[in-house]
Amino acid sequence: MATVAAAASVVVVFDFDKTIIEWDSDDWVITKLGAADAFNRLRPTMRWNSLMDRMMGELHAQGRSADDIRECLRSAPLDAHVLSAIRTASALGCDLKVVSDANAFFIETVLEHHGVLGCFSEINTNPARLDADGRLRISPFHDPTSSPHGCSLCPENMCKGKIIERIQATDSAKNKRFIYIGDGKGDYCPSLKLSEGDYVMPKENYPLWNLIRSNPQLIKAEVHPWCNGEELERILLKLVNKLVTPAQVSQLDYKCEMSNPVPTDVGHNQTLPVPN
Ligand SMILES: [Mg+2]
Ligand SMILES: [Zn+2]
Repeated sequence: MATVAAAASVVVVFDFDKTIIEWDSDDWVITKLGAADAFNRLRPTMRWNSLMDRMMGELHAQGRSADDIRECLRSAPLDAHVLSAIRTASALGCDLKVVSDANAFFIETVLEHHGVLGCFSEINTNPARLDADGRLRISPFHDPTSSPHGCSLCPENMCKGKIIERIQATDSAKNKRFIYIGDGKGDYCPSLKLSEGDYVMPKENYPLWNLIRSNPQLIKAEVHPWCNGEELERILLKLVNKLVTPAQVSQLDYKCEMSNPVPTDVGHNQTLPVPN
């Protein structure tokens, strides 16, 4: 069935926090594992990405293991409609990707728990690894010292716009239409990189939606807001059905169900290829 995936004409890019899962995963882990006080104390003095690495150190010092963090992430709420949207878009042959400022450990844990990790061809996020003491280490996607991304819209550890440009330039993305789904300020830069014929799906009343509305002429893609999982599913599948040709629809490719579980060892590179 690989020919169906190869022939697919749509790339769907998902943000993770407050888009795939309902909460912010960093916030969820810190709150649920009881590290909110340390977080609030350190927040004014540190950038988010370094702070999250530091918070993993705090949790480790409090005796919380990587398994405790995994267990906590598995309980994070995820709308059944969003899961269904992911499975169906994948089955229709869309190329699904995650672009997120969370980290590889959190995202893989959640997607694997819900059985949809195999639906995604890549996860672009901050790398994570367990050190020799079993402490989770989180590093920046772009190293601000050795390879600064130079984008003034984005935090120094990650420019999602640069990631979208990299995906747009790959052979497999040639002549494909993009659908970008997100909520946050960091999703604005990649939305500006979309072309005519692409779609952006901002979460209504969240920062991305506000930024788009404040200057609508800057966005070349067609804008389709959503406000909950049910709407995300309905709107995404409507757009996908419009873009996917009838020949492709007739050969449904249930990659998610067929794929083997993907190992979730941390310590891989920034872009995680997910074997299908
Ligand atoms: Mg988000
Ligand atoms: Zn940027």
